[in-house]
Amino acid sequence: MVSRVIPVDSFDLVIFGGTGDLARRKILPGLFRRFRSGQMPAEARIIGAARSDMDDAGYRQMIREAIAEFGSEEKNDAGGIDAFLGRLHYVAIDATGDGGWSQLRDLMRDGVIRAFYFSVAPSLFGALAERLHQHGIADASSRIVVEKPFGRDLASAKALNATLAEHFDEGQIYRIDHYLGKETVQNLMAVRFGNVLFEPLWNSHYIDHIQITVAETVGVTGRGSYYDKSGAMRDMVQNHLMQLLCLIAMEPPSTYDADTVRDEKLKVIRALQPVEPHQIVRGQYEASQDGPSYRDDAENPRSFTESFLALKCHIANWRWAKVPFYIRTGKRMKARSSEIAVVFKDLGHTIFEGDTARHRNILSIRLQPNEGMDLQVTIKEPGPGGMRLVDVPLDMTFADALGPDREDAPDAYERLIMDVIRGNQTLFMRGDEVEAAWAWTDPIIEGWEARNDVPKLYDAGTAGPEDAMMLMHRDGRRWREIKG
Ligand code: NAD
Repeated sequence: MVSRVIPVDSFDLVIFGGTGDLARRKILPGLFRRFRSGQMPAEARIIGAARSDMDDAGYRQMIREAIAEFGSEEKNDAGGIDAFLGRLHYVAIDATGDGGWSQLRDLMRDGVIRAFYFSVAPSLFGALAERLHQHGIADASSRIVVEKPFGRDLASAKALNATLAEHFDEGQIYRIDHYLGKETVQNLMAVRFGNVLFEPLWNSHYIDHIQITVAETVGVTGRGSYYDKSGAMRDMVQNHLMQLLCLIAMEPPSTYDADTVRDEKLKVIRALQPVEPHQIVRGQYEASQDGPSYRDDAENPRSFTESFLALKCHIANWRWAKVPFYIRTGKRMKARSSEIAVVFKDLGHTIFEGDTARHRNILSIRLQPNEGMDLQVTIKEPGPGGMRLVDVPLDMTFADALGPDREDAPDAYERLIMDVIRGNQTLFMRGDEVEAAWAWTDPIIEGWEARNDVPKLYDAGTAGPEDAMMLMHRDGRRWREIKG
């Protein structure tokens, strides 16, 4: 199936931190793909702004190399690359000083959308916002994009929100959580609210529990010192897994509109109950033949930071009364796999004599690998011998169902940047959402800090510490297998 590409309006996108890792690895190769697809108008421009002293030619060369290193098949399109690089400019700028700002102002065009991507450390957000206004570069129709981490607790998130609010309205601020740009994550809403089949069953009468797993095989090599100050709770749960939980659990919004959707997500976060210490398992990976231990990666032999987290939580509202949500995420696990599984209740009664198995419908939504869904249903095992039942998946791998010709389908970053230009905030976190998420997370982290909680060690290449299995077993349930 060929996807339809609708070009966005023309824009000047300034990427502060345009020479950084994120810009080179994700943002610019992504923008190149949008350029090739025809979604980025030919006259739109991208302006890299960073500390290094460089001219347009130097920046274009840097991005040429970035596309060669981080691009996929599009990196072989020499003509396309030249045309795209022609849209690039560079200004050497000091976020905290005066250098470069008047050059940037002179470069900006009137009559096109102005967007500013803050791909720099959050400590620079305030300085950038202030100077954009001081120099008359940003106005009431400009947009800013900010990256995670958005704070490391409620107080710092509030401070960041307040800083940005001094210069920009909430409607101008796009807080990126790239999980929300994933195709399958948006499909969650399409499946729930575009089918008659699921929503009537989407509650505590029919759902036994929900599992969310985001497992990675990589460790923290190379970013250990950053990660060690963060850990799985701050790096993954407070943002990405929380967003998945919201989309699974929210009430149907009355329209698919940014604030209506975000209002419903916010209600979920606010209804999350505090988590007791016995409902959380923190883990840290040990050394294996494939790599060093977490502590070696983090270069902190006394680190108590978690590289794995599993927890059980409840949402205190009518829909989800007594339905546990089990979430887990970890590094150096047995496979790279992200999945949401909605596990329906057992049948209350069976008419099939001798069938003692606990058959369950399970809707599994896979984010990676092989984006797709399957629904486990119970059928008769073919052949003679009476009525023997067996559970089989009704598989819907998107690549199979929709065809492989989806080369121009945008990845998460690309889609989200195009949404910024379109002015669509649906897939971005609102300030109050981020604060509510920290308000739930803070006491959990404070609890284990006060107890000097020591993470449980787990072998790399496994499903995490044994205690995480027990979290489920105690309730008579089990985690889904982590399959790559
Ligand atoms: P980086 O260290 O590779 O790059 C930082 C960029 O900021 C460079 O271009 C540098 O020139 C610029 N910069 C630093 N100080 C400046 C100043 N005073 N004035 C102007 N420019 C200045 O960082 P990164 O990995 O690209 O990350 C950027 C932001 O994105 C960070 O907030 C990070 O947490 C976030 N982030 C990064 C990733 C990733 O994969 N790299 C993923 C998610 C979020």
